[in-house]
Amino acid sequence: MLQRTEGIVLKTNLFGEADLIVTYITKDYGIIKTFAKSPRKVKSKFGSSLEPLTHSKISFWGKEDSSLPRLVQSDIVYPFHSLRSSLGCFLKVSEILELTLNFLPERDANNRVYSLLLNTLRAMEMDCRTELLLLFYKLKLLDFAGYLPMLNSCGRCGRKGNIFYLSSGTVLCNRCAKDSAPSKSLSPAVISLWMNLLGWDMNKLGRIKPAEKILQELTALIDEHVKYITERTLRTRTF
Ligand SMILES: [Zn+2]
Repeated sequence: MLQRTEGIVLKTNLFGEADLIVTYITKDYGIIKTFAKSPRKVKSKFGSSLEPLTHSKISFWGKEDSSLPRLVQSDIVYPFHSLRSSLGCFLKVSEILELTLNFLPERDANNRVYSLLLNTLRAMEMDCRTELLLLFYKLKLLDFAGYLPMLNSCGRCGRKGNIFYLSSGTVLCNRCAKDSAPSKSLSPAVISLWMNLLGWDMNKLGRIKPAEKILQELTALIDEHVKYITERTLRTRTF
């Protein structure tokens, strides 16, 4: 059956000599992989609509549970071309796309993440120098995907605490913590930036001006958490 939705290209992989596997995050189906027949043979609108980041209206054909339906139509809504043309920008955006691919399961529609990604790309197009926006995206994505680390109280019992345990993905209080696990003490400023970013809308971001050191500290913590979960997930998938 023919299915229609809108989506953003997260990545493409070559398939054979002329075909492509195009991975989208879509509004109605979450992350899906589609098969595009010979898009590179001729310079066509169809071919250019498959560039990563392109926001398009798409139609694909296949059984409802087909793991690789065929992409039959793709009409560009907005290409986000400028995000691909600057290397600095593209590196940041690539990090966002990879994170999204790693933390969202396939075929599981998540409207909040879809809107978050679209709005983040729009905001990055206005100004992609800001590190705060990148951190904002990471935190919101982790929250919406169910992997948000708790930083303002013990993740087990809710008591006060400010020691973060990487292997538990949360702050733990004295009673719940195992002494031997590696941990990191969080400053009140880091916890408060975490709370602000989670509680506020994207359009309020311009009003937060965190100290560079605090921004870097929280970013490093979140990156470590992301790396830990990604590696653990990969291990589980392998064995
Ligand atoms: Zn506790």
